[in-house]
Amino acid sequence: MTARKKRRAVVDERACVACGCCAKACPLSAIRIWRGIRAEVNAERCVGCGKCAKECPASVIEMQEVQA
Ligand code: SF4
Ligand code: SF4
Repeated sequence: MTARKKRRAVVDERACVACGCCAKACPLSAIRIWRGIRAEVNAERCVGCGKCAKECPASVIEMQEVQA
């Protein structure tokens, strides 16, 4: 049996400038700006659609495969 994989958004927290563009772009409200400092992804909600990554002006979000 092969392990199922799914994609999730992962933020490079050190490079995030907390602009909030990703949070606005996410159709599932899976990202919030934590204490005005950095973006935080709710992995339970995220479906790996990639919309947040496209909107990030700093290009610090990438989709990564995780075990389902
Ligand atoms: S990949 Fe899609 S669902 Fe996940 S945080 Fe980004 S916009 Fe939201
Ligand atoms: S769009 Fe990019 S830089 Fe802006 S808050 Fe989201 S991850 Fe950080």
